[in-house]
Amino acid sequence: MSVFAEDLLQAAEAAEQVIGEAVRKLERTVDRNQWKVIEAFQRHQVSDFHFAGSTGYAYNDRGREVLEAVYADVFGAEAALVRPHFASGTHTIATALFGVLRPGDELLYITGRPYDTLHKVIGHAGDGTGSLADFGIGYREVALLPDGSVDWAGVEQAVNERTRVVGIQRSRGYDWRSSFTVAEIGEMAARIRSLSRSAVVFVDNCYGEFCEELEPTQVGADLMAGSLIKNPGGGIAETGGYIAGRRDLVERAAYRLTAPGIGGEVGAMLGTTRGIYQGLFMAPHIVGQALKGSLFAAAVFEQCGFETKPSWRDPRTDLIQAIRFHEPEHLIAFVQGIQNAAAVDSHVVPEPWDMPGYEHPVIMAAGTFIQGGSLELSADAPIREPYIAYMQGGLTYSHVKFGVMKALQMMRNRKLL
Ligand SMILES: *Cc1c(COP(=O)(O)O)cnc(C)c1O
Repeated sequence: MSVFAEDLLQAAEAAEQVIGEAVRKLERTVDRNQWKVIEAFQRHQVSDFHFAGSTGYAYNDRGREVLEAVYADVFGAEAALVRPHFASGTHTIATALFGVLRPGDELLYITGRPYDTLHKVIGHAGDGTGSLADFGIGYREVALLPDGSVDWAGVEQAVNERTRVVGIQRSRGYDWRSSFTVAEIGEMAARIRSLSRSAVVFVDNCYGEFCEELEPTQVGADLMAGSLIKNPGGGIAETGGYIAGRRDLVERAAYRLTAPGIGGEVGAMLGTTRGIYQGLFMAPHIVGQALKGSLFAAAVFEQCGFETKPSWRDPRTDLIQAIRFHEPEHLIAFVQGIQNAAAVDSHVVPEPWDMPGYEHPVIMAAGTFIQGGSLELSADAPIREPYIAYMQGGLTYSHVKFGVMKALQMMRNRKLL
């Protein structure tokens, strides 16, 4: 017995035929990343006793120390700070930036406007919030060129002796641009190095981990950060973030997370350690499942006449799949279909609402085991032209497929296809 009509099942089958070779390529990346993670566990002799929780100051928490060594190893970095004490990706990135930047320094973003939640971290002089600007740290950004590439002429003009951190955002975030591949980030790092010997190349790696075989710290980035409720948490880590890169920079971030002079030497893991280890172990596979789901979604919606970014033909470097629909009703049906396919909260019907900070109503689907966990299948769409829906994640391919087919079915029931 199937919940879907025969022709929908056939459309799904056709899409799977189309993406066959892309999926095989993806599976090779998953293999390599899985082996890379296991070998790092082995080199550091991860043992059952490392999973014990710690309390109080948690000095000499061996499980935490080895976890950070494993993370550094996997990311080809000198050091890493991997903690449940990071409340979100934004908190993690802010900690890295505040760790490195000092009053009078400048932060220069070369990939255009950064992710929304970072705007208030950058802040405005005198805003009284303790933002970077409030501490006298300057900010510049160079918009991307219309073709989505870095405006190097603009960057050359913007770099100066105050430039202390050059920021790169790997993922498209919620923009209709391409994400930057790790190879492109490597080229950017080299080029920045030629413009400034002292600037720190920082990468916001959110949504990027394990989509490719290398990470930004393996191609010249000095420092990167990400969230454990996205890719590297493998859907199992319950909260937290990581910072990885040059040892001196990671240490400065640790001084900011706890206190100068104390840094990463303290920090009780409570019961989180095992989940963070196991999540890292699972991450290459789960990211692969989510990416396979995105390939499927891109192929199916392309067959239905909608534009997708990336297309199923494009190389992938992050989890976000954008789909451009024709009508607002498509957005609503898509998001409601994804919600309807969830194991958690499928009975909830998302509606567009005026979310604070957004100019247009936004509709979101999230039925997740971890609140806001976006390695789990989720979708959102601002209700405005050009009617783009963004989806990401999925702990299992079958779940993503279920969600996409529910969305198609809903569109068809509403005579939108
Ligand atoms: C998710 C994300 C962030 C912020 O993470 P939160 O956990 O939402 O605070 C920053 N940058 C990018 C590119 C992201 O995808």
